Amino acid sequence: MNDAATDTSVIIRELKPSAGYERLVEARDADTGLHALVSIHSLKRGPAAGGCRMFNYAKIEDAIYDVERLSRGMTYKNAAAELPLGGGKSVIIGDPKTQKSPELMRAFGRFIDQLAGDYYTAEDVGVSPQDMAHVAEVTAYVAGLEGGEFASGDPSPVTARGVFLCLKQTLKHGLGSDDLTGKVIAIQGLGHVGMSLAGMLHEAGAELIVSDINDEAVRIAQDSFGATVVAPDEILHQRADVFAPCAMGGALTADAIAALKARFVVGAANNQLADDTCGQRLKDAGILYAPDYIVNGGGIVNVAMEILKISDPAYRESRIAGLATTLEDVFVRADETDQPPHVIADQLIESRLR
Ligand code: NAD
Repeated sequence: MNDAATDTSVIIRELKPSAGYERLVEARDADTGLHALVSIHSLKRGPAAGGCRMFNYAKIEDAIYDVERLSRGMTYKNAAAELPLGGGKSVIIGDPKTQKSPELMRAFGRFIDQLAGDYYTAEDVGVSPQDMAHVAEVTAYVAGLEGGEFASGDPSPVTARGVFLCLKQTLKHGLGSDDLTGKVIAIQGLGHVGMSLAGMLHEAGAELIVSDINDEAVRIAQDSFGATVVAPDEILHQRADVFAPCAMGGALTADAIAALKARFVVGAANNQLADDTCGQRLKDAGILYAPDYIVNGGGIVNVAMEILKISDPAYRESRIAGLATTLEDVFVRADETDQPPHVIADQLIESRLR
């Protein structure tokens, strides 16, 4: 890249990654106060790709735990979407409200540039497309930009389309038909993905029950899609065919599962299962769970096209349709082996990594 990338005060240091991970790299820059980590979980399918999170971690151990957990998740998500990308993630340690600056983001970009294409970054919690534009001033190993030839912009509509196709696939598997007419879908969270999904479901004839802590969002869904609005703590109790978690992670706790009245769970949120027991609990309750990292893979397909410099919409559509095919594979194997779908999903993805 340009001079700023090579003429750098950013000091990088290899740390010992946890077992099963390929690399863990720390960067510090005295001029800007940058303290960042990149975890590369796997390069088996291609260069590692995953976003950058900025968070004020109390200890470096907390940051390492988070960046490694998230980078492993990206290996699975990228492989689930059958992308030629491995799994990685980065974190910047600091408060995004008070410690972020264009200079800091450029220093982070010089760090990424020194990894010479083993890792591509993009935005995540605490980091915006504008921040990534500063990163892009000093390195080419960045995606999630709003301008440029292959810029992918907001991935949410693509994520929502993937959720929509996976939801139909789940109904088809469970009920023998993917017709949404009159089906009741309870959506938790009407943000970028949830609202877009609500529009698609309404268009397809579904009835919506929605909740959000943002009153404006629920009002829009009520006015635009005739949705029934319930309080955030009521959404789990609704009689619905599908519960679609599209807010924060960890929605499927033991208590939440006990309260659920839906037969299917298909949604966009990351890390929906609150702990390792919850997938089995869903199965025991007779609820078919569509594993989150397959269902919400549309977003990474969008980012991947920017990294791989692909502009053909047919590629996007085929990868997204592939999410539903992978999901059906998981359901079939789960039925055959009498195991919960989240266990089978991990096994299937691990076989793609061998
Ligand atoms: P967002 O921040 O735009 O929307 C989240 C919505 O959930 C907000 O409207 C918020 O008010 C609402 N919310 C928060 N707590 C709630 C609660 N207790 N009950 C009801 N609503 C609540 O986020 P998003 O981009 O729409 O993403 C939604 C989820 O999907 C997140 O978990 C995200 O990590 C995941 N995801 C998003 C994408 C993407 O392309 N945006 C891709 C993959 C995964």
